[in-house]
Amino acid sequence: MAHSTARADVILVRVSSISSSPPCRGRFAPSPTGPLHFGSLVAALGSCLSARQQGGEWLLRIEDVDLPRTVSGAADGILRTLDAFGFAWDGPVLYQSQRLAAYAEVLAELKVAGLVYGCLCTRSEIARQSSRPAVDGGLLYPGTCRSGLPAGQRARAWRLRLDGTVSFVDAIQGAVCQCLPEAVGDVVLQRADGLYAYQLAVTVDDHFQGISEVVRGADLLASTPRQIALLRILGWPLPRYAHLPLVLNPAGEKWSKQTQAPALDVTRAVPTMVAALRFLGQAVPPELVEGSLAEVWRWALVHWRLAAVPRGGLPTVL
Ligand code: GLU
Repeated sequence: MAHSTARADVILVRVSSISSSPPCRGRFAPSPTGPLHFGSLVAALGSCLSARQQGGEWLLRIEDVDLPRTVSGAADGILRTLDAFGFAWDGPVLYQSQRLAAYAEVLAELKVAGLVYGCLCTRSEIARQSSRPAVDGGLLYPGTCRSGLPAGQRARAWRLRLDGTVSFVDAIQGAVCQCLPEAVGDVVLQRADGLYAYQLAVTVDDHFQGISEVVRGADLLASTPRQIALLRILGWPLPRYAHLPLVLNPAGEKWSKQTQAPALDVTRAVPTMVAALRFLGQAVPPELVEGSLAEVWRWALVHWRLAAVPRGGLPTVL
């Protein structure tokens, strides 16, 4: 009897230690502004392989909160393309257009806490007031409306007060340090057109989906300190971050819909996957290009090494 009690204790200890460190959960969060291109494949593959190799889950979120930029049919096209490239995601797809109540609730909490303020400034006013650009190429907001709006004026947008410096270690890019007021200024959480901003939606949803690892393109590295600041304000745990090298076109520009990146060709899934793995620094054996898509996935799941991913992108020609 004493023996079986001791065993039960051991089992209890094991169970509680498992539940205190849930498995890794990663995600891919494309904006449905057009078809997936090679740069999106690199982000999907890096995030998926990293999560899967740790025995974790990989979730899919369609970031369709920015309605004017959303292209009709693009979300379904993205899901079909991912499927054709052999991706399998866990659980239902989360659509940000279905999450407006959650964003409203968080914004309301921040308003009650006095952490956000209404802003009247138009883009052209900010351009006139601001002495230099923000690190992500946007306008650095000089804090004009921080001390309150004149009586009777209605806020156009809502901004979060951001003070201090955020430091973190990115699993690929290394140590990152950003002084928020100098680099980006107070971030917009709700835009003048009433839409919730990317920085709010992505932070609320990464928490809601229990994401423990954010693997995405290095173009979002400058956004991460704002997301960390918001997570800390809300008292939510921080995920681990890994920012992948950006795919650049021969002119050295980020491959995107704006720089006419070609849509992924589902009839060339194997060579494109191999090119994406090589871009991510993985030592793919040459014969894999002759293999099936299932063989490429099998190889990648066994051999994936985040440590082999280079920091910077090289111009890629497919
Ligand atoms: N929706 C963003 C994009 O397509 C990605 C957001 C993220 O991974 O945090 O660029």
